[in-house]
This record gives sequence, structure tokens and C-alpha cells, in this order.
Amino acid sequence: MQFIDLAAQYQHLKQRIDQRIQTVLQHGNYIMGPEVAQLEQQLADYVGVKHCISCANGTDALQLAMLVLDIKPGDAVFCPTFTFFATAEVIAYAGATPVFVDSDERTFNICPQHLEQQIEQVLKDGKLTPKAIIAVDLFGLPANYPELEKIATKYQLKLIEDAAQGFGGEINGQRAGSFGDIATTSFFPAKPLGCYGDGGAVFTNNDEYAALFRSYRVHGKGKDKYDNVRIGINSRLDTLQAAILLEKLAVFPDELVARNKAADHYTTILSERYVTPYVPQGYLSSWAQYTLISENRDLQMASYKSKGIPTMVYYGTCMHQQTAFKSLNYKDSDFPNASRLCQQVFSLPMHPYLDQSMFAKL
Ligand SMILES: *Cc1c(COP(=O)(O)O)cnc(C)c1O
Repeated sequence: MQFIDLAAQYQHLKQRIDQRIQTVLQHGNYIMGPEVAQLEQQLADYVGVKHCISCANGTDALQLAMLVLDIKPGDAVFCPTFTFFATAEVIAYAGATPVFVDSDERTFNICPQHLEQQIEQVLKDGKLTPKAIIAVDLFGLPANYPELEKIATKYQLKLIEDAAQGFGGEINGQRAGSFGDIATTSFFPAKPLGCYGDGGAVFTNNDEYAALFRSYRVHGKGKDKYDNVRIGINSRLDTLQAAILLEKLAVFPDELVARNKAADHYTTILSERYVTPYVPQGYLSSWAQYTLISENRDLQMASYKSKGIPTMVYYGTCMHQQTAFKSLNYKDSDFPNASRLCQQVFSLPMHPYLDQSMFAKL
């Protein structure tokens, strides 16, 4: 059994994906071909925002957001400590200082109360200028945007939604990718909407930001790519990946239903044995991961392994514990929830084509 069975999905879509790939091979527009613009339009419509700009991966999407928001040395950017490295990495790469925030113990997402405490602390210390918040839709569940938007407004900070895992999630019918000033996502194969290589995108309703994104992703282009008006990067989504994503997006709504059914099935079976995932009222998760909490995680994982069920730990190391961020001098006691979660969480197989016979073995 596979933890995420991408081959099962391919078998399901084989004919249509093969056809799409053939079409690209025949027209030969491998970079910025017609499928790229078509996909960007469909993604913007799906998410419900004005602009979608695709790029090479989810990390570049975040890096482009740092460029567009002019994040630079001396700036403080707040992000959760319990996340994938890329969220914090792009802040440091821009020369700014990541300021880590603890998790809500039930949703695993950034804790709005602790965020506000960290902002106040930075203001009190007076060394850095608070500029932005990167919230993460961890494991597919949108962060608490109603509260985060209030805090961003109160302190005049830009809010970025890192929806790399959250594409497909909702809060009261509003889709992930539409929260904050800018949202980013990843099409890494294992994400809820994945391609067959690297891919990413940004979303925004802001026309000015959209124009900047289009410039920064192609070497800071002006009227064309040989007219360079700012220092940018090279970060485009391949036409082949866009073509594959067009077919994957078409079945995505059905897959989202299947993921939610699988999650409900897990919860029904496991809720007496573990702390199962919490989805607040009005929220929909895209279930990038189905994650349990256990005080004896190693034992539980070994037991599943003996039954042929693969498990994974996302994440065993918080950002404040990473060697690369040692110089920030944080302690585990600064983030009690996240520090405990990284020792106790583990995830079960999750994808839309799960073998139903697995549930009987749990
Ligand atoms: C996967 C991921 C990214 C980075 O996406 P890539 O496409 O792998 O660069 C960023 N943030 C989070 C939360 C992720 O899970």
C-alpha cells in the first residue's frame, strides 16, 4: 500500500492526461503555452479571485510574494513554527526576520492570540518593523482567517495565505486561495492538487500585485522579457504541467468529496483511540494529511507498519528547532503546543483512491 497513491489516480485519468500531453508535444509551446493561461483562468474562477499567476513551485510562489510586498532586511514576518520549512525559509531568504508563532492545539494552525503577543513583543523591542503574516492551511484546513484578518488590519500588516496544502479547503463557502492580500499554492505531486513535477501559483484580487507577479516571475520584465525593469527570478509553470493540471482540476471536486469521505471514515473508526483531527464549524478541509495525536506515536506507527499500513510524521521538527534557525535563539517553552505536536503527531494514508479494505485493518 502507498501512503499517497499517485499511480492509482493516473490510471483513473490516463486517457485524458495522455491526450493532453500529446497535444502539447504536437503544438510545441513548452514554455507559457496556451494551457498555462487556460489553467490560470480556471484556477482563478475555482478559487474565486481576480488573478492567478502560475510559477515553478510553491516555494517560489512564496518568494515572489516576498518580492511583491518588498519584504527586506529589518522587517519582521510572522509565521507558524509548526509548518514545512519553505514557509519560514522565504522570509529569511528575503533578508527579513521570521518571527515564529505557536499553534492552536486543536486546529494545528497559527494561534491568533499568540500571534498578537508576538507582534506586541516585536513592537516593544523596537528592533524590527512588523510587515506581514504568513498563515499556513496546515494539512488542508484553512487557518483562522476571520481572526487573522482582524489582526492584520489592526497592526497594518499584509496577510499571506500559504495554501500549499490547503487548496480545496473552505471557510463558510469561501475557498482557500482567496484569503488575505496574497495566497500561494503548490502543485508538488503529493499536494491535494498536484502535477507530475514541480509547480505553483499565486492568487490575488489586487491588480497592482498581479502585474508585479507577472514581471517578477520572468526576470523583472517590462514590456517584454528583454526589457528588464526590476530584478526578478525565472519561475514559470511548464506547459506540460499546466496541461496535466487542467485534467486534474476537472476531477478535483469529486476527489475532494472522496477525501472527506475517507477522513470521516477514519474518524468514525479511530476517535475513541486517538485525538482525531478537529474541523471547526463552517470549515472544510482538503485533507492534505489525516493526522492523529498519540503520546506513544512510535508504538502506534510500528503497529500500523506490521499491518501493512504506511504512516508518516508531518512534522517532527518545528521551525524554531531547525539548525538553520538556531541563531534566532528560541526555546521549546516559547511554543508549548507546537513543541508537543511535533513529538506526538503522525499521519495515515490519504488520497482519493484509498483501498476500502484498509479501513477494516485499522
Ligand atoms: C509543500 C509546501 C510548500 C512548498 O511547495 P513546493 O512546491 O514544494 O516548493 C510551502 N509551504 C507549505 C506549507 C508546503 O506544504
